Amino acid sequence: MQLRIAHLYARFLNIYGDRGNIIALTQRAKWRNIDVEVSAIGLDQAADPEHFDLYFIGGGQDKQQQIIAQDLVKRSQDLKKAAEQGAVFLTICGGYQLLGHYYKPHEGEELKGISLIDAYTVAGNRRMIGNVLIRREDDSTLVGFENHSGQTFLGSGVKPLGQVIVGNGNNGEDKGEGAQVGHIYGTYLHGSLLPKNPVFTDTLIRQALTRRYGAIELAPLDDALETTAHKRALTLPA
Ligand code: GLN
Repeated sequence: MQLRIAHLYARFLNIYGDRGNIIALTQRAKWRNIDVEVSAIGLDQAADPEHFDLYFIGGGQDKQQQIIAQDLVKRSQDLKKAAEQGAVFLTICGGYQLLGHYYKPHEGEELKGISLIDAYTVAGNRRMIGNVLIRREDDSTLVGFENHSGQTFLGSGVKPLGQVIVGNGNNGEDKGEGAQVGHIYGTYLHGSLLPKNPVFTDTLIRQALTRRYGAIELAPLDDALETTAHKRALTLPA
C-alpha cells in the first residue's frame, strides 16, 4: 500500500511547526510498512484530484494566507472532487479558516475560502494563545496549542471536532473547537497536533487509505511515548 499526501503551500503556511503532522503521518504509516509519498504543492502547481489520499494545509500569518488564498480558490473544484471521492483533509488554523466561506483579517480584503466547510472566520480583537484540550463525541481527547485572532463560526449543520475543556477553540465563545465534515477536518490545534494524538493520526491514515484500498486495519504500535506526552498535555493550564 502507498499513502499519498499533498502538502499544500508548505513554503508559506509553515511558521507554527505544523509540518510535524506530515512527519507523524509518514512515520506511523512507515512503521506499518506502508509506503508514503509526500508532494509539496506550491502556487500554480497542479494536484491531481484522483491521485492524493490526504491533503494537508498548515497555519500561517495573515500575510501568508493572503498570498495563497486566490490559488486555493483556483483549485477549489479539484479539491471538492477529491473530498467527494473520500480524500482526507487535515487543515490547521489558517488553512482551516480558508476551507470555510471566507476569512476577514484585521487588515486588507476579505479572503474568499473554498466552502468545503460551512463556516466563516473574522479576526477578533484579541489573540487566543495557549494550550488546548478538547473532548470528542467518542469521549476521546485531543491536545494541542492555539495561536490565532480569527474567530470561526460554524454553520448549524457542522459538527465541531470537539468541545473545549481547556482553551478558546473556534471563537472563545461557543466552546466548539475545529470542525469535521465527513473526512474533512479543520482545527486550531498546533503543537503540532498529531504526534501527541496517535489514535487520531491512525484514524486519518485509515480513512485516507480506504479510498483506494477499501476498509483496512492498522497493526497496533507501541504508543507509550505518545501516550505519556498526551497525558502530560492533559495537565497543562490554558
Ligand atoms: N492568521 C490567522 C489568525 O491569526 C491564522 C493564524 C494561524 O494559522 N495560527 O487567526
